[in-house]
Amino acid sequence: MKTLTNVIDLKMYINGEWVDALSGQTHDVINPANGEVIAKAPLGDVEDAVRAIEVARQSFDSGEWADTPPVQRASYLNAIADKLEERADEFALLETLNQGKPIKESEIDVADAVACFRYYAGMITKPDGQTYHVADPMQAMVVREPVGVCSLIVPWNFPLLMSVWKIAPALAAGNTIVYKPSEVTPVSAMKLFEIIDEVGIPKGVANMVMGPGPTVGNELAESHLVDKVSFTGGTVTGRSIMKAATGNIKNISLELGGKSPNIIFADADLETALDYTLMAIFFNQGEVCSAGSRLLIEDKIHDQFVERLIERAKKIVVGSGHSPETEMGPLVSQAHMEKVLKYIEIGKEEGARIVLGGNRLMNNGLDKGFFMEPTIFVDGTPDMRIVQEEIFGPVLVVQKFSNEKEAIELANNTKYGLAAGVFTQDAAKGLRVIKKLRAGITWLNNYGPTYNEAPWGGYKQSGIGRGLGTFGLDEYTEIKQININLQVEPVGWYKN
Ligand code: NDP
Repeated sequence: MKTLTNVIDLKMYINGEWVDALSGQTHDVINPANGEVIAKAPLGDVEDAVRAIEVARQSFDSGEWADTPPVQRASYLNAIADKLEERADEFALLETLNQGKPIKESEIDVADAVACFRYYAGMITKPDGQTYHVADPMQAMVVREPVGVCSLIVPWNFPLLMSVWKIAPALAAGNTIVYKPSEVTPVSAMKLFEIIDEVGIPKGVANMVMGPGPTVGNELAESHLVDKVSFTGGTVTGRSIMKAATGNIKNISLELGGKSPNIIFADADLETALDYTLMAIFFNQGEVCSAGSRLLIEDKIHDQFVERLIERAKKIVVGSGHSPETEMGPLVSQAHMEKVLKYIEIGKEEGARIVLGGNRLMNNGLDKGFFMEPTIFVDGTPDMRIVQEEIFGPVLVVQKFSNEKEAIELANNTKYGLAAGVFTQDAAKGLRVIKKLRAGITWLNNYGPTYNEAPWGGYKQSGIGRGLGTFGLDEYTEIKQININLQVEPVGWYKN
């Protein structure tokens, strides 16, 4: 098993320089598998955010990056992808060390991050814009231009991947950026900026600050020097970011929480449904915005399906993410584990029945980390908090339905609308149900795949806008209408 021997000394990256917080303060970054300090990170404050924003503003206003030919911007992004790929093992190791997830999941994240840079490198040299047929003698067209200075704020569950989903399209489109990782998981963020530095992107284009959300993050959302804020995180934080962004009517993109339904009809291929159901809730310890955390099962197969689910979930190997056998790692922090355990108590008090897990794991040397058992509740009802609120851990709540209409009603009955899965061998029914679901990402007879090519985001309180795909690039552009007069002569509206 590979581990680190030295505590990593993290820095922020502003105007092409590696810097500490102006206050000189730092905070400890913890390995969630054993509680050990793995890094010291600058504890930035508002003044550090201001410094980075001013640099990004100056850089954007100079026009240097937006005026760099797209083919050259693409070559920078491809160079980042190449270096990230060369260092893939190191990045996977660090991601697991800091976030806890199983190493094979970190490896997928790094590969996806590489592909994301390549996807947007390709995208920016492709045709875009539109022309319109309007009355002679005019010709109308639309071109896309960068928005300006973009604040990018990301959470701790996929530290590298969530960052790349924003950094790649924002830079591709010609913006300058100020990026902030979560305080809990800043390690891969700094390593990514080492690569951004190495490939020689002009100073001031890409900046990275570290520090608490309510101070540093809030400044990134509020500053009048910033044109856009793109945020991924919880819905409560998203609301606060929206408010902070009103001062100069910022362009905003929000990718927020979810409480996504996974619907299993009796005519589904049950082994396929089982397999995906496990992944939907236990992948990344359930710390996934699109987790299938509500399992809706048709009554005819409910008991049989739950029984098989328990059998399979019991066998999930929980342990240090660095062990190749591990299938579920620790939760990201003690505070987060305590929040998840609290929800388990709430579920019991509400009358849901626990049929698997529900506890912290303390045996076999796991006591120093933040490990939990895969947990399943049955008898969930729509009034319960564990059915309505995002737990963001390995906790599945099962509900029963008796027909298609009831399945749709239950599925749509939360404030969220991020994702949904449907399992049935009746293709028409599957599509019919999916068309009634108020969710931005849906899967038929599978659950979870994400593609750089396809849009990511939610309905209702799961967010505004879409990441990834062509939609993801559009989020970082303004649309300019251009009307050209093909007959240059006075219009003659006024007689004298
Ligand atoms: P938070 O909302 O707590 O934090 C996300 C980021 O926002 C962190 O960098 C945090 O900083 C920062 N932040 C916190 N408060 C503020 C503020 N007032 N102003 C500006 N920035 C702030 O989310 P978590 O990190 O706990 O992540 C979990 C959440 O993320 C879940 O709800 C999950 O559903 C959601 N998520 C959504 C995804 C999607 O695509 N829809 C994908 C992944 C996660 P710091 O932590 O350093 O204080």
